[in-house]
Parts: sequence; structure tokens; C-alpha cells
Amino acid sequence: MSSSPWDLNKEEIADLLSSEPRYRIDQLWHGLHHEGQPPETISSLPIKLRSKLAEHFQPALTEVQRQTSADGNTIKWLWELPDGARIETVLMLYAERATVCISSQAGCAMACDFCATGQAGFTRHLTTGEILEQVVQARAAAQPRRLSNVVYMGMGEPMANYGPLISSLHRIIDDFEIGARRITVSTVGLVPQMNRFAEEGLQVGLAVSLHSANDAERTEMVPINKRHPISALIEASQNFRAKTGRRVSFEWAMIDGVNDKDSDIAELAKVAKAASAHVNLIPLNPTPGYPTVGTPPERIAAFAKALGDHGVNVTVRANRGTDIDAACGQLSAANER
Ligand code: SAH
Repeated sequence: MSSSPWDLNKEEIADLLSSEPRYRIDQLWHGLHHEGQPPETISSLPIKLRSKLAEHFQPALTEVQRQTSADGNTIKWLWELPDGARIETVLMLYAERATVCISSQAGCAMACDFCATGQAGFTRHLTTGEILEQVVQARAAAQPRRLSNVVYMGMGEPMANYGPLISSLHRIIDDFEIGARRITVSTVGLVPQMNRFAEEGLQVGLAVSLHSANDAERTEMVPINKRHPISALIEASQNFRAKTGRRVSFEWAMIDGVNDKDSDIAELAKVAKAASAHVNLIPLNPTPGYPTVGTPPERIAAFAKALGDHGVNVTVRANRGTDIDAACGQLSAANER
């Protein structure tokens, strides 16, 4: 099976082109990253070299379906990979810029019960090229807007696919020229990787999917909490802040009667302050395998206000693309609509 041309790092490209003039390395690199072209259409390269490269390297993403929300501002792709695995990518358009939400794995092994990706289970890790191609495609579709932000909040647990996570981040920052501060990686809370991530010397944002500030309840929602409990998350969040100067943000999907009680406010305020974290409340999006409904908007507003009164820095996320199952937690690559 051919691999993605974006899987190659610059050294591998240099090896591959060792019998060619040196400047071909930069031409291929530039064509892939700046023009977002696969080798066969990079016009600065001789035709013979293009077809030789195309024999070995083919883009990994084949579009199966592309949906646009009713307001036209959110686009969701369903892609098929060379081995038949499927992933989704979401592009959110704003007046003059755009944000892409990318997948890091096909499926997810974390099994959070309220998340459609978790309900569907794990297929496999994505390669660096498969992660980067999502950005290439989104950048082209966002035109004439600038693709300004990238969030690793699609399918999968990015910290469980650590090598490709880090190599894709470096390439997005260095070669796609998107500032590290405009990139956010979201994790279910894999503590060893969070600590490793803090040492990478990157100014990338880190979000942690908390959802409950009480270990017994969090373990019900997010099973990995059994291995990495809240006290460990607080410590890892403080470590991240010490090493990078940046606060983590806690994500909290608001679920009616589950994590929107008065006791949750007090518990969350305590944990957020201990972790010096910002809190981002997410209205729950419906998923096929989870019967409980989202917290009503008035309660979300009251919850946010109460947290603010406790001295917590809090925002409520505006959900995008719920009508095409493109919002947080809805990506399953099921394609059964
Ligand atoms: N595995 C990573 C990346 C996924 S990001 C992580 O867990 O952080 C997707 C975000 O949406 C996570 O914060 C996730 O907890 C949240 N989410 C999952 N299901 C949701 C739902 N049904 N409604 C709203 N948010 C949801």
C-alpha cells in the first residue's frame, strides 16, 4: 500500500531524492506544504520525477462524503483511508478566518459513554501524513479565508498517538506556519503524556476533558479516570503551567442531572482553582448510544455564573454543525444518515 507523501520528514525526502539535484528537495517540500499539492501536481518538478514519486506516495484521504450545515458555516468530511478505515474532519468558517478540528485516530479506545467516537470503539492510529492531510484539505476549502486555528478535537485520543501528534504539530507550526498559540490539543487526561508534552518546548494549548470533578462520578463517564484520577490531573496541569507558562483549560460537557448539580459547581470550582485551569462548558450534543439529554441553556448560564462567582475563569462553547453531526463528541464516521 502506498503511503501519504506528507508522512515523509525532510530527511526522508532528502534520502529519497539523493540522486537528484539538491534543490529538488526544497521544491518537493514547498509543493507539499506551501502549495498543498501531492507530488504528481507539483509543477516545479520534472514530469518523470513526479510520476516516479506518485508510484510510491499517494494522498491517504479519499472523500466519501462532504456535508455543509444549514447556515453554511460548518463543513464536515468523511474520509476513507487506504486500508478502508474512516475518519472525519470538521471545518468551521468565520468572517475572515477558519478553524479546523482534526482526528488523530480512526475511532477511540477511551470509551467515554457520552461520546459517539468512544461508543464506536477503536480502529487504529493515524499516521503523521494522515493527520496533516486533513489540514491541507481544510486550508484549501477555507479559501479565501486564512486557516488560522487547528484543534485536535476530532476522533481519537491525540496523546495515545504521541509520536504522530508531536511530528504533526511541528510541521503545522514550521511548514504550514500556523502559530503554536493557535493550536489546541485536547486530551481525556493521559497524565504521563501530559507531562511529556509539557517538556516539548511548544506553546501549544492543552485542553483536558474533565466532565466531573468527583472521582467516583468521573470514572463512570471517563473510564481512564481509574488509572489517572483527578488529583493526578491537577498535578499534571500545574506542571504544564510551570513548564510552559500556559494554563490548561478543562472541558465540561453539560449533562442534565449528571454533572450540572449544585454540588458539581463547588467541586469543579475547587479542582479548577487547584489546577489554575480555565473552564470551558460545552452544551451536550446528542449521540446515538447515550440517552441522557443536555443541560437546558438557562441552567448552563446559571452554572457558569456560579463558577464565576467562585473566582473561576469560565466560558461556554458555541456549538457548530450539530445539524450535520459535526459538533463535539458527534464524530463517528458512521455515514448512516
Ligand atoms: N479524546 C480527546 C479529544 C476529543 S475532543 C479528548 O477526550 O479530549 C472532543 C471533546 O468533546 C472532548 O472534550 C469530549 O469530552 C467532548 N465531548 C464528547 N462527547 C460529547 C458530547 N456528546 N457533547 C459535547 N461534548 C462532547
